[in-house]
Amino acid sequence: MTKVAEPISTKGERASETPLLAVRDLRIEFRGKAETIVAVPKLSFEVKPGESFGLVGESGCGKSTTAMAIMGYLGATGVVAGGSIRFEGEELVNAPAHKLRAIRGRRIAMVYQDPMSALNPVKTIGAQLAEVPMLHLGASRVEALDMAAAMLKDVRLPDAGDMLKRYPHQLSGGQQQRVVIAMALLGRPSLLLLDEPTTGLDVTVESAVIDLIGELRRRYGTSLLFISHNLGLIAESCDRVGIMYSGELVEEAPTCELFGRPRHPYTQGLIDCIPDIGNGKHSRTLAAIPGHIPLPSERPRGCLFGPRCAGFRAGLCDRPGMTLEPVGERHVVRCVRWPELEVAHRELPPLSGESAAPAAEITFSDITKFYHLGHHKTLKANEAVSFEAGKAEIVALVGESGCGKSTLARIVTGLDRATSGEIRMAGENIAAIEASARPKPLLQSIQMVFQNPDSTLNPSHSAGFSIRRSLKKFGIRKGKAAIDQRMRELLEMVRLSPDFAARRPSQLSGGQKQRIAIARAFASDPSLIVADEPVSALDVSVQAAVVTLLLDIQKTRHATMLFISHDLALVRHVADKVVVMYLGKVMEKGTVEEIFGGATHPYTEALISAIRSTKPEGAERNRITLTGDTPSPVDVPRGCRFASRCHRKLGSICDREPPPIRRMSATHEIACHIPAEALESPRHPDEASDRS
Ligand code: SF4
Ligand code: SF4
Repeated sequence: MTKVAEPISTKGERASETPLLAVRDLRIEFRGKAETIVAVPKLSFEVKPGESFGLVGESGCGKSTTAMAIMGYLGATGVVAGGSIRFEGEELVNAPAHKLRAIRGRRIAMVYQDPMSALNPVKTIGAQLAEVPMLHLGASRVEALDMAAAMLKDVRLPDAGDMLKRYPHQLSGGQQQRVVIAMALLGRPSLLLLDEPTTGLDVTVESAVIDLIGELRRRYGTSLLFISHNLGLIAESCDRVGIMYSGELVEEAPTCELFGRPRHPYTQGLIDCIPDIGNGKHSRTLAAIPGHIPLPSERPRGCLFGPRCAGFRAGLCDRPGMTLEPVGERHVVRCVRWPELEVAHRELPPLSGESAAPAAEITFSDITKFYHLGHHKTLKANEAVSFEAGKAEIVALVGESGCGKSTLARIVTGLDRATSGEIRMAGENIAAIEASARPKPLLQSIQMVFQNPDSTLNPSHSAGFSIRRSLKKFGIRKGKAAIDQRMRELLEMVRLSPDFAARRPSQLSGGQKQRIAIARAFASDPSLIVADEPVSALDVSVQAAVVTLLLDIQKTRHATMLFISHDLALVRHVADKVVVMYLGKVMEKGTVEEIFGGATHPYTEALISAIRSTKPEGAERNRITLTGDTPSPVDVPRGCRFASRCHRKLGSICDREPPPIRRMSATHEIACHIPAEALESPRHPDEASDRS
């Protein structure tokens, strides 16, 4: 029988005290032949009926393992070695298989990060969705298909009849994730486990999926256990939050309380790591948390966060048996020094910034890149893209996947050639010169930092070898001693000790690998760095350290940087100028102040509204939900490229005619049919939500 959920809570309100899910003293081990790894030593938390509980932490903290234990998917070597998991009062640990089958997938459902891991590639969406009510609710096939079609409408997938006949590979990533959510909800679960459900999705798609989850939660009264490393998402989606570190909770509180007044140094550190939408480039530095989560076999005595904590006191913080202590209403923290360490309004030091030199380092004029696919089909990756970056400026290229920003990076670095247009650097047009034909000084002057350092670091070469090779290739230093000396200086520049020179990539963490990649990129003394999502694959604490490092080096070296990113909060923190791209065209360009304040293009407006914030006031911002997917670059719209998703569309003129360029200032341009005065005038606060 379906259990009726109690009324849902809202942030900060007290939900029913009887837990739907109660995890008590949970111990999870992975038992291999040689050793046993204790992934989670002792974890306790609860999810109340109708509540959304967020579990936050860096990778390796045990949050996904906990979700897998609840689902009973620990694999061959994983065991729940102690404690209990009670769901609706029933014990799941060591429960008989038939009882677990009746609960998992039906009363508890899970949505994973990668939707394809939950979808069968050889079955239609209809067949996969219909299985759930047939198996769990005893529905007939016809009834099940009707329920599936209705649920597809609920998750806002258009044309449900057609969608049921499609295969997973025929859907976009956002559509696949909606199907997985529909599949999870079809069993009418009381509890939905969401494990990084939007990682890998574009920001506006992420925003739509999160809004959808919130709406479905309200409609069906489903409780959520929301696992994420994204503090902004958690802050805006959850009633209560638990911060997890090395397999245990270090702090737990209602969301507003936790983000408004964090007590544990780790929670404070996580919040200080992330750029916020209100913070511009010169407002504050991002504070990184030094070090990394200990391996399960190397957990320290006493406070597990001790080795990374600036407040560590020997004799106090290394005492075993540190417990969660109450510090406020429903607020607990595992730190013996929190009252001394808490500072009411912590201010991080501002960045000392000089204004960038105005002379242009690189100028893009009408860059167009078409790929001819045969059968009269052309993929339009870039069309008439124009902007410039001054000496020592950071210009951010922003947009979702398929917007053409990475194609531009490939052309700049010579991995591809432009179809037409010019890129002028030091007086030379480099747009049509591939890397193999570029003279050495040109190769030397442009370097790239990639999202994934593994793609550039040879696994069989040591870090020192990679840096030395770059120094030799460009003749930056001559002679072994001088090259070794410079290699050590570069390691020091990226704040790694000289012994890292001997390490291979497999012996480095993700953040350390990216530091090596940065050291190697700067080995040739480049004047232009192309950084393609350089921190998006790293944990938030590591991101802050790498971004701060990159900014420091860029400033001292006076290098110009093209910073490619989908993360607008980070862009606001990093960039001097921003170029917003959509489907191969520039929608808007301007200084960072112009882009984030006042008049903006409707697409920029949607991107900014999709940013999640940990600040309580962030939740009050109007959210613009874009419907539909980005059109194919093979079949671009005739008029405005954004017309099929625009929440401010004027009418048929947007479909018919490419928009004019509105010059808002000498540095600010917006491509839109909306007149400049209307773009400038403040919009009614409810307008965005009314149109969505
Ligand atoms: S107990 Fe000590 S080491 Fe641990 S978080 Fe608190 S101050 Fe830092
Ligand atoms: S031109 Fe029309 S569709 Fe395009 S952004 Fe402006 S209002 Fe929207």
